[in-house]
Amino acid sequence: MAHKLAILRDKTTEPKKFRELVRELTWLLGYEAMADLATRPEQIETPLEPMTAARLEPRVGLIPILRAGLGMVDAMLELLPTAEVWHIGLYRDERTLKPVEYYNKLPDAATVQVCLILDPMLATGGSSAATVDILEQWGAARIKQVSLIAAPEGVATLSAAHPDVEIHVAALDSHLNERGYIVPGLGDAGDRQFGTFAGPASEPGHGPSDETAEVVRRLQRETGEG
Ligand code: URA
Repeated sequence: MAHKLAILRDKTTEPKKFRELVRELTWLLGYEAMADLATRPEQIETPLEPMTAARLEPRVGLIPILRAGLGMVDAMLELLPTAEVWHIGLYRDERTLKPVEYYNKLPDAATVQVCLILDPMLATGGSSAATVDILEQWGAARIKQVSLIAAPEGVATLSAAHPDVEIHVAALDSHLNERGYIVPGLGDAGDRQFGTFAGPASEPGHGPSDETAEVVRRLQRETGEG
């Protein structure tokens, strides 16, 4: 994982390679995240004799946070082809860093017991905490967060709001910068996957950031980070 993360973080890694690495890292994390899911005994017959085998018990839902979480879906579906994929659209208001919901087609009652929230970057934790709120109201019994890189602020925010949510990450980085990017991180995971580099305003460390910086400072005071 550390080796793959090194290539992922490198700013010269182009989107094709970046997407491949997101997929490979998601495989490795997915194994960890699903390792403790319950199984039920099932009688089967091998060519040699009958035996009691184990089959996965809970129904699992994958909840990619649009848009960066999309790159993690295929790898998870390879591991667990019967998983349901439910999309929740949240974008991060770049000034306030607060999550804004713009897409949610969840049916009235939960159709899965375990939900895996997929988001490569656990930054402020705001989108994750808001997604967990939605999934708990929906009736999901167990929720896990699966991310490639986390900031301490994001882990603190999510854990404080939802102590029962398990968090699986490949790396815990140093801190958030004044624009809410994880440092050292890898930049914008969406832009790097999808090749959408729109210029200085979308680059870490650029753009009007007074309000955003204040939000990050407040978050760091509240969570004791920074
Ligand atoms: N989202 C990203 O894509 N990168 C960060 O560093 C933080 C949030």
